[in-house]
Amino acid sequence: MSGIKPARRWQPAFYPFKKEKAARRLLARLELAVKGPLFGCRMCGNCLLQETAFICPMECPKGLRNGPCGSVTPEKRCYVDETRKCIWYCIYKRAARTGRSDTLLEVLPPIDWSRAGTETWGDVVRQVRNVGTGHFLSGIVSRQEKKRSEVWDSVFRTIRQPDWWQGDSEYHPPSYPEPVSELERKLRAGEFVVATEVTPPLSADPQKLSKDIGLVKPYVSAINFTDSASAIPRMSAISCCATATGLGAEPVFQIAARDTTRTGLQSAAIGAAQLGIRNILCVTGDNPSAGCPPRGNMNVLDIDSVQMLWILRRMRDEGIYLDGRKMKIPPKYFLGAATSPFASDPEFQAARDHKKVNAGAQFFQTNIVFEPERLDPWLEQLDKRGILGKVFILIGLVPLKSYRSAVYLHEKIPGVYLPERILKRMEAAGEGAQEEGVQIALEIIDSVKSGKGISGIHLMTLGWESVVERIVTESGLKK
Ligand code: SF4
Repeated sequence: MSGIKPARRWQPAFYPFKKEKAARRLLARLELAVKGPLFGCRMCGNCLLQETAFICPMECPKGLRNGPCGSVTPEKRCYVDETRKCIWYCIYKRAARTGRSDTLLEVLPPIDWSRAGTETWGDVVRQVRNVGTGHFLSGIVSRQEKKRSEVWDSVFRTIRQPDWWQGDSEYHPPSYPEPVSELERKLRAGEFVVATEVTPPLSADPQKLSKDIGLVKPYVSAINFTDSASAIPRMSAISCCATATGLGAEPVFQIAARDTTRTGLQSAAIGAAQLGIRNILCVTGDNPSAGCPPRGNMNVLDIDSVQMLWILRRMRDEGIYLDGRKMKIPPKYFLGAATSPFASDPEFQAARDHKKVNAGAQFFQTNIVFEPERLDPWLEQLDKRGILGKVFILIGLVPLKSYRSAVYLHEKIPGVYLPERILKRMEAAGEGAQEEGVQIALEIIDSVKSGKGISGIHLMTLGWESVVERIVTESGLKK
């Protein structure tokens, strides 16, 4: 593999939906023949190479266009196919090496599928003509960096940022003054909050769901409902959230990009607002390879989690749909995102999180943390970027129930790794493994409670809802 293209292309190239003129077909063939071997181009027709260190992001099996997922292996390989490098890790590394890391902050649009399979060179030529060929050529060889980048942007930014998107690399604070949810109110007031997760049932049984909500409600500020976690179908998150709202609990509605189209996202957000659901958490979601067979479509996601945040933030704050249509009464919600502090090098992970905050994330729930001391380098990087004051961070914790579940998490759950010392403690505990698991969780809470930039914890009980009372009480977090 060459230094230009660090991995193999994941899937074959796209072809246009409708027949193109012969000249355009010829140009497209030529483009594929050059960009395929050099950059791994899939002919998405929405080229981002200039923004992604000249490595095609479409080599990512999830087709992520705004940075890596949280499941990169410790060897920086792709968890979907460990024989391949994580292409986004390669992009971040090359951008850092070439001093172009800042370009990775720009929120990039989802694919315009009417262009898939078509050439993009024609667009570049047309845009160069628009700005003036002489002006462009003299600009890109200019000695002044500012001029070079202005001229470059006058061509490529226009192409990659269509009018219906207008993504940028700026922070956009929420446009509303008062908190829209109880969770937001508490976080703004500086309370150290506890959120938890109730696992949506595997059946249509409403009693189990209500019972689990009742078990945790008195001890937490909010309850997350996952969106078919691990790509295993369960009761829908929106239905669970509606039940929670009816029971007087505060739900966090998780939406996974894996099962969501751009249309579906916008309707789900409006529907959720109508049901009184005021917290939304956008996640990419586990790849279908993690779920039940037969394997679902592993092609590309319609939108990634950064794009979800951007779309939802604009719906709420600017009152517009993705296509720019105005809506009469925009939905209100407090927007969150997931983060995986140890997935990548701390500076790369912080850059990814910075982008999510710019796109609209107001709170983060982290992946499961078993080594709180490893949070420091990541928090320092966020601090350097001035992010800590712009986002509330809830640290993800799992009270381990048994040695077996510890090994399962370590080996089977993408992006989760347990240190040897925890695995050994759980193994040595034998019959007392449950107690040991609770003690480990309490120790972690103790060490993160006063950490700079940490606003609370997020307890993922994996079906062990009854443990919430004990953990919240014994950690001294019960209000
Ligand atoms: S680890 Fe995630 S971001 Fe990296 S290539 Fe695989 S799916 Fe894409």
